Amino acid sequence: MPSVNNVQTLGDGQKRVGIELPDSEYLPTLQAAYRRNLQFWQDEPTDLQIIVTENEDRFRELAGPYYDPIIAGVTTDAGLVVFRGMQSLRKEKGGINTWEGLENGLAHEIGHGYWVKLLRGGMEKTWAPLWVMEGIPTWIGKERWNLARKDLLAKLAKVYGEWTPDPQALTWDDMSYIGSGNEKIALSFSLWAEYLKYLTVETPSTAIQMLRELGPAEWTEAQFNGAFRETFGKTAVEGLVEFTDYLSSMQTLR
Ligand SMILES: [Zn+2]
Repeated sequence: MPSVNNVQTLGDGQKRVGIELPDSEYLPTLQAAYRRNLQFWQDEPTDLQIIVTENEDRFRELAGPYYDPIIAGVTTDAGLVVFRGMQSLRKEKGGINTWEGLENGLAHEIGHGYWVKLLRGGMEKTWAPLWVMEGIPTWIGKERWNLARKDLLAKLAKVYGEWTPDPQALTWDDMSYIGSGNEKIALSFSLWAEYLKYLTVETPSTAIQMLRELGPAEWTEAQFNGAFRETFGKTAVEGLVEFTDYLSSMQTLR
């Protein structure tokens, strides 16, 4: 892991975080993104390192095998959070190259860092389905799709054409769908975040508790599914039926 010289306390807690920023101007945004994670997880990991890169070369170097020109940030298996600075955030990323967008994106990516560092100390030991792995950071990052918005599905129909999830008949295939392109991916992530919110009734504690109580063993799919059922009293597929009813009522009422 690269050494980060600037170590600061970012949240309300006591843990110190290694940070590298292109400019001190970034600090309030980073602090806000970090605090959102602290609020969500109710605890802080040790040894978290967050780097906001100055330029594309630095991002490419630090992202290593995860490098992709279209992503805004990445968290490595070791829990290093690497995020693009304003200079290399592309304008067409739907407003992410604003301070607010940067805060949301950083909050999402730091969510992955917390996951790795706080839960198990390594991504490979924390198996969870993609919809949970991305749903939780998306919840923290407050990304732009809000499925409770009445007008949203109509807008999405125009954007997506061939795929629009029907809130009255959402299937597990819809939930597992990840299209290509930022907007389809953003919609999938938002669906997952909304489902997690629904399951945990607007408080993250049950989801976090479930994740943290899985025990020290390496997680497997069966362990995860067992813990899920124990926590929520149903499988994720069973819960989806209730979630579609909820989504439909939100769409009708608003
Ligand atoms: Zn993510």
